[in-house]
Amino acid sequence: MDKNAAAKRARELWRIIESHNYSYYVLDDPTVEDFEYDTIMRELKAIEAEFPELCTPDSPTQHVGGYAMNTFEKVTHKVQMASLQDLFSKEQMAEFAEKCAEELGSMPLFTVEPKIDGLSVSLEYENGVLVRGSTRGDGFVGEDVTANIKTIKSIPHKLPTELPLLEVRGEVYMPKKSFEEVVAEQEVYGEKPFKNPRNAAAGSLRQKDPKITKKRKLDILVFNIQQIKGENVSSHADSLRLLKKLGFNTVDFYTAQSRSEISGIIDKIGDGRADFPFDIDGAVVKVDDFALRDRLGSTAKFPKWAAAYKYPPEEKETTLLDIEVNVGRTGAITPVAVFETITLAGTEVSRAVLHNQEFITEKDIRIGDRIVVRKAGEIIPEVLRQVGHREDSVPYTLPEKCPVCGTAAVRYEDEAALRCPNSECPAQQFKNIVHFASKGAMDIDGCGPAVITGLLDKGLIETAADLYSLKEEDVAGLERMGKRSAANLIAAVDASKNAPLDRVLYALGIRGIGSEVAKLLAERFGNIDDLLGATAEEMAKIDGVGEVLSQSAANAFGEPHFIHLINSLREAGVEMKYESSKKDDRFAGKTFVLTGTLPTLKRDEAKKIIESYGGKAAGSVSKKTDYVLAGEEAGSKLTKAQELGITIISEEEFLEMTK
Ligand code: NAD
Repeated sequence: MDKNAAAKRARELWRIIESHNYSYYVLDDPTVEDFEYDTIMRELKAIEAEFPELCTPDSPTQHVGGYAMNTFEKVTHKVQMASLQDLFSKEQMAEFAEKCAEELGSMPLFTVEPKIDGLSVSLEYENGVLVRGSTRGDGFVGEDVTANIKTIKSIPHKLPTELPLLEVRGEVYMPKKSFEEVVAEQEVYGEKPFKNPRNAAAGSLRQKDPKITKKRKLDILVFNIQQIKGENVSSHADSLRLLKKLGFNTVDFYTAQSRSEISGIIDKIGDGRADFPFDIDGAVVKVDDFALRDRLGSTAKFPKWAAAYKYPPEEKETTLLDIEVNVGRTGAITPVAVFETITLAGTEVSRAVLHNQEFITEKDIRIGDRIVVRKAGEIIPEVLRQVGHREDSVPYTLPEKCPVCGTAAVRYEDEAALRCPNSECPAQQFKNIVHFASKGAMDIDGCGPAVITGLLDKGLIETAADLYSLKEEDVAGLERMGKRSAANLIAAVDASKNAPLDRVLYALGIRGIGSEVAKLLAERFGNIDDLLGATAEEMAKIDGVGEVLSQSAANAFGEPHFIHLINSLREAGVEMKYESSKKDDRFAGKTFVLTGTLPTLKRDEAKKIIESYGGKAAGSVSKKTDYVLAGEEAGSKLTKAQELGITIISEEEFLEMTK
């Protein structure tokens, strides 16, 4: 590669990495797997090694990828919370150990410990009392999450000894078991599930409401003393022993003094991955003696006395026992592979979604096949390929009828999925009611999947509208439901009658009508009767609705099932009114994209202002974007806007436009 091509590619990789960093560290919602991210980072490092002049201090290879957001108070770390150099082979790890030995004159003692896949926090104690908990942020400035940290049971609030000062560093994680519970709940509620335990932990700790953090059952393992007064420690092993004595959960460690010992322990930790109650993504090798660490020093991003070996994503072979066919809330018929249980990335898996007929046909997956399954830390395991058919196997075809109600399945033009068109299909009923009652829809507190199952089983409800005829005594008879909870539930059902039209529309669970489209429809028509009387053409004229969604809404409003449901809700006293927050149309036809942290407005607030003047807030920058409203730490969206020559405005300029 010549220098120009290398510079071009490096810039491209920077942009990609910064954009992944934003999704991962700020939104806690990565768009690619860690393995893919690490591969891109490695490509950039290789280019920078060949052309060192391209490796400037602001390169993503040279600084920690995180950020401290304005949503929290900022904390300046007295001791940098550095990252670790990543190594991907045993040879690289051997080279690392040799390099340490060369610098120090002999092979030092190393500690080797599991690398917990969570998020790094600092805990500060003054005179033995916990005074602050903060996230790593960019390594220099983090976010103050003290209130949330205090909800983690295993973090001592008071130490047995009144040390004048102690700052420890640890990894907050979500245990595998809690993760599975949280994701199962999110799926039933129709919420976007966390992708992996790390994001779940980060998303749960970086919450405005500590009550939510508390519910998520996070835990911690501490692995370092950042600063201490009142005790002397001279090695890593000593500091972990002291921390244990002070009541902290500490990471387990082994010691090693040769390349082969290090390699053996890395394998041992890797083989035991399944047995840890938390996800690990590697093993960390550290020089034990602090005086030797000082001699080795650090780069701007990581210490030279430590390195992380990253385990490759696991793939395993197993046998496909069956293909199950599930029916979702909107009737989507989804094939699911059921295979002999294997342990992958630390958890037992026996099922993976096979998406649709095309996916199955393309890979020629048949029942009885030997298949290869992968799970690279992500919650969702995937079938990569089949590696051998059984002799008597035949190509698999999805059933033509809904496996639950027997109605002939249909395939809409715009979709790959098959659907059961029967909206009264029992498989859809339960999930529809759960969605109806969920947050963002009718928000009926206490009306979760367990209660709804109980109500359906006892024949107390058949549809969502039946919730409104429930009596306290009916509900009190349900399992694990006391008198008080029953009264609370009835009160919550009652309160939901005031839900505005857009939430009711969303709660109806019409295919394609998410909360955004529901708002646009409510804004345009204002009440349920005008909306029911509208034609698909009228709806399609709304910017942001389009023909496909308007046809879907119009079809649903013509279905006897929906007409009956809406009438029953009306009779039950559900108001279905909408008070427009629209001020005027000055932003009509204009699309805004928000990026970075604004000085005073939260994203939601800025979005509301845009909408109240008839504008649209979009998620990504394209040629169609009119304005990019950029704040602090704006990332790849800003770069793209600059490239496309789109008008970039500050919050001040934006607010000026609204005067
Ligand atoms: P890192 O997570 O690879 O390593 C550093 C971290 O390891 C430290 O912050 C520390 O908290 C943690 N750690 C866990 N156990 C430890 C132990 N026993 N001793 C010491 N430290 C321990 O580095 P990073 O800079 O935080 O993140 C980079 C990694 O994050 C990437 O390699 C990638 O895997 C992932 N990432 C993924 C995406 C994505 O889009 N998928 C984006 C950004 C980062």
